Amino acid sequence: MKISIVGAGYVGLIQGVGLAELGHEITLIDIDQDKVDLINKKVPPIHEQGLAEALKKVELKASTSYDSISKADVVFVCVGTPSREDGSINLDYVYSCAHSISENLDKYAVVCVKSTVLPGTTEKFGEILSESGRVFGLAHNPEFLREGTALNDFRNPDRVVVGQSDEKSGDIVARIYESFNCEKLRTSIRASEMIKYVANSFLATKISFANEVANMCENFGVDANEVWEGVALDNRINPKFLRHGAGFGGSCFPKDVKALIHASKSGGYDPLILNSVIETNELQPKRLIKLLKTLMPDVKGKKIGVLGLSFKPGTTDVREAVSLKVIDELLGEGAEVIAYDPSAMKEAKKLLGDKILFAQTLQEALERSDACLVVTEWEEIVEHDFSGFDKPLIDGRGVKKPNQSYRRIGKPF
Ligand code: NAD
Repeated sequence: MKISIVGAGYVGLIQGVGLAELGHEITLIDIDQDKVDLINKKVPPIHEQGLAEALKKVELKASTSYDSISKADVVFVCVGTPSREDGSINLDYVYSCAHSISENLDKYAVVCVKSTVLPGTTEKFGEILSESGRVFGLAHNPEFLREGTALNDFRNPDRVVVGQSDEKSGDIVARIYESFNCEKLRTSIRASEMIKYVANSFLATKISFANEVANMCENFGVDANEVWEGVALDNRINPKFLRHGAGFGGSCFPKDVKALIHASKSGGYDPLILNSVIETNELQPKRLIKLLKTLMPDVKGKKIGVLGLSFKPGTTDVREAVSLKVIDELLGEGAEVIAYDPSAMKEAKKLLGDKILFAQTLQEALERSDACLVVTEWEEIVEHDFSGFDKPLIDGRGVKKPNQSYRRIGKPF
């Protein structure tokens, strides 16, 4: 099929490369000229396992022009849906590209929103498209990829959900995923939009629940790791994501849960559990500082190493990363920060500039700091043998070989 993909970020680029591998004719459309140039030069603008090799192998075009829409059978919408200051969803990119698509529709095509949007948004998107006077199909197809393993997730999804305005639109989108060996679900568009929010909210709830349990365990003198081992033996409980630590970050969980809360409140229902999920998560990075203070009561003027900056391992994405909150707290306490990340230093420097120091290697961070906090679960960091490190080590992620001067969230001391 001829497929145009609007938005060549994480979701759009992975979708484009993945569909090109399946033999579809792909054009990626993005307003960011630099991104378009990089993709056309076969250089991935993002760090994802296997993406550089895959991009080199496939035929795929990128452009800032919407021309390809006129010939497309399917148009996927993968633009960003960031949070506003008040937690509500910013749909400006979505509606702005709806106008551009509408101006370029020339024949029947199915326009399928992949961006994470609240129930009702795709329908409004369709209303804008209708202004073109063209006949088109409308669908929503939520994206469940995980940054760090995105291409693999595209190739081996747990499920494909297609929300459809009518049978024909759903059939066309479903045909694209025909070769995938996974559960496939056809729903209404609103249900499909909601499925994505509920999936992310549930995963975020598991993390905040795990953190709450870990915080209680610390007080009860119980090691939370032992507790999870026993809890996970119940076959009604899936242990994945029941892992305590310094909290969740990233471009999806915080913004999606907040958007759902905000929209629900506007509709007259204030969701109690989800409010607590966010509140627990916002407090969790502070626990690292609290643990640090049990070993170093005054951090003012001390140089604190922050190990790991990206919001999770395997990505350079620092959006809403826990590291940023930890760094803010430390700077607020008058500490100096020296940070290290195996991959995300460039991205972090863009945000943090000269507010902090950056170490080129893990060893340098260890040597130059008075204490270290483990914030992101990079293999290089959690597998490191810290036994020779004779300063306070505060662990938010599960270091395998700790030192003598050690505190971990969820472990009594
Ligand atoms: P991103 O910021 O990486 O990419 C969005 C891209 O859209 C950018 O390259 C931007 O330049 C482009 N863009 C903005 N306006 C445009 C326009 N009018 N025309 C063409 N291009 C335009 O975002 P992302 O992480 O890929 O997320 C996209 C959507 O998918 C969001 O709704 C997000 O919540 C959802 N999602 C993201 C992930 C993830 O892990 N990143 C996973 C699942 C779902």
